[in-house]
Amino acid sequence: MKLSRILSNQNGVSRRQARLLIASGRVAVNDLSCGDPAVEVDRFSSVKVDGEIVQKAEPGHYLMLNKPAGFLSATLDHTHTTVMELIAPELREDLHIAGRLDRASTGLLILTNDGRWSRQLTEPRIKIPKVYRVCTAYPISPDTSQRFAEGIWFEYEQLTTSPAQLDLLGPREARVTIYEGRYHQVKRMFHAAGNRVTALHRERMGKIRLDDSLAPGKYRPLTPEEIDLMQ
Ligand code: URA
Repeated sequence: MKLSRILSNQNGVSRRQARLLIASGRVAVNDLSCGDPAVEVDRFSSVKVDGEIVQKAEPGHYLMLNKPAGFLSATLDHTHTTVMELIAPELREDLHIAGRLDRASTGLLILTNDGRWSRQLTEPRIKIPKVYRVCTAYPISPDTSQRFAEGIWFEYEQLTTSPAQLDLLGPREARVTIYEGRYHQVKRMFHAAGNRVTALHRERMGKIRLDDSLAPGKYRPLTPEEIDLMQ
C-alpha cells in the first residue's frame, strides 16, 4: 500500500495531511526518513510519525524444506498429506509455497508469508533458474539437449518454453535448468522428447541451493543472503 494511504487510513488524517506530514520529513519507514508519499510499503515494514508507531512490522518467514516424496505441495488437502504437516504449527498458518513440486518430486521447496518476495521466484517473466536432477525411464537421446535449448511447444498453453539447459550425468540421468515453472514442466518436456521422468529432485532456485545437511522432511530459515534474491 502507498505510504500516504497508510497514514490517511489513520483516524482523522486526510490524504492532504498525510502528504504534508511526509513532505515535512516527519515520517519514517523502517526507521529511515521517507519523503515519497507514493512509495509502496508492505506489512513487513514499520511506519512511524515523529517516532510514534503507526504500523508495526510483521515478521516475514522464509523457509527452505527438503521435500520428501509423497507429500502434496498444497496448504490444505482432504485426501493427501501436505508439506504443511512437516512445518511447526505456529509457523504454518500464514505460509504459502513459492513454486510447487509434484507429489512424487523431492528436494528444495520454499515457503514464505511474503507474496511480493515469492512472486520474484515464480513469475515466468523473471527468469530465475530452477535446477533439477532428473532420472528417466529410457536413455536420454542425443537430440534432447538441443530440443530443450530450442524450447518445447506446450499445446495446452499455446507457447514454447524458454530455452532450457540439459547436462547429461549418465545415460538416464541429467541436470536440467529451466527458467519458468509451468505445470509439470520438466516431465512434459521429457515426454515431448519421447522419454519419461522417473525421479525429479530440485537442487536450486536462483541462488537458493538446497542445504545438504537438511534430511528429507526437515527445514530451516533462509539466511539474509538467500532472501536477497537479486544480489
Ligand atoms: N517439473 C515437473 O514436472 N515437476 C515438478 O515437480 C517440478 C518441475
